Amino acid sequence: MGRGIYKASKYIINCILDIIYPDNNACVICKDCALSHNLCTRCKRDIEIIDKPFYIYHNGEKYKCYSIAEHKLVMRDIVMKLKYESNFTCGEILANYMKKLIIQKNIKIDVITFVPISKKTYNKRGYNQAKVIAKKLSEKLDIPCKQLIKKVKETKDQIGLTSWERWRNVEGCFKSVKSSNSNFENVLLIDDVVTTGATLINCSKALKENGVKKVFILTGTKSVV
Ligand SMILES: [Zn+2]
Repeated sequence: MGRGIYKASKYIINCILDIIYPDNNACVICKDCALSHNLCTRCKRDIEIIDKPFYIYHNGEKYKCYSIAEHKLVMRDIVMKLKYESNFTCGEILANYMKKLIIQKNIKIDVITFVPISKKTYNKRGYNQAKVIAKKLSEKLDIPCKQLIKKVKETKDQIGLTSWERWRNVEGCFKSVKSSNSNFENVLLIDDVVTTGATLINCSKALKENGVKKVFILTGTKSVV
């Protein structure tokens, strides 16, 4: 618990620093001079942008997903720094790329939500990295960000599990937050990484069970098991 408070305080301090020093002109990856968005030209070139949506197939259904880039090189480092090093500038970078993608693809959404984490993970990490991205994106697009899903069951870390084990691990773990979901027709669901899509598809199902018509899935990176 003490560790959780420490991490939460670190998160708040980083948020304050973000406001005081919004852009310190250093590349978040190589510390070289960054011209814009906290990335230098060379690091930006190493990002393998995914231009088209892709599909996840499960139980005879097809789910459309968008990711900014492959889970490699610079983009992988950005996602990892946000998740494990409390580097919220990396959340800013991901939100900037996501904003660009949403505008380019003309995706129409009423609300932004995110994949929830368990209380145990929250106490350990001090923040939910998907929520950090979603909040920043919400500010940039001026679209509300709301927690519409909760995690009702503790799961094993998906890292190290096979594809089948990942689907099994997250089954029945997510429930829609009852409040006013039915008011939203088009929801944007954010996470940092998609691998098998098991987590995102289960979250998407939870939203649809509670009246959401369309769920757009968007992640920072796309990885493989
Ligand atoms: Zn760089």
